[in-house]
Amino acid sequence: LPALGEPAVLVHRSDDLAGLDGLIIPGGESTTLSLLLESSGLYDPLGEALERGLPAFGTCAGMIMLAGEVLDGRPDQRRFGGIDLTVRRNGYGRQRSSFECDLDVDLLEGGPVHAVFIRAPVVERAGSGVEVLATLPAARAAQAPPAGTELQALQPPVVCRQGSVLVTSFHPELTGDRRLHQLFVEMTKEEKR
Ligand code: GLN
Repeated sequence: LPALGEPAVLVHRSDDLAGLDGLIIPGGESTTLSLLLESSGLYDPLGEALERGLPAFGTCAGMIMLAGEVLDGRPDQRRFGGIDLTVRRNGYGRQRSSFECDLDVDLLEGGPVHAVFIRAPVVERAGSGVEVLATLPAARAAQAPPAGTELQALQPPVVCRQGSVLVTSFHPELTGDRRLHQLFVEMTKEEKR
């Protein structure tokens, strides 16, 4: 965000939520994020801020935190449900099945986005209110989703948006390409208008 000329603060406690124009929930491990959000007392204030319409950008585990339904999660794993998606944790396989590919993303000019998928969630269902901005390329889809499932050869959505919530199955912060972060910054400015 600073590279885009936008100030950023780290959110550790509910006090840090004051005055935010948007929130990025990063990748990592959604089960751990859920536990830490709970033990830090941040889960409820964050959930309320999102319910009030705080724009949010969730990448990988952040996507899982924002999805309405999570498959293969821990039974006590919580999520905010800001976007009408069903996602399957580790749906593309474990660490050794991590991969990179180029994606055509709607709304972004300047050619494909190089995307890094690390133990990424598969979007198995996107509700009718969800804009799908990119899907996995057909060639990659044929080999990426777990073999032997009905997902094979389908092209799951990998960039989705609903209202002021943007999510990606991959890690856009791991390449120098800032266009998805720029899109999110624009969404936060739109929301303020
Ligand atoms: N597999 C992780 C989870 O379930 C997400 C991985 C990631 O964020 N790179 O939360």
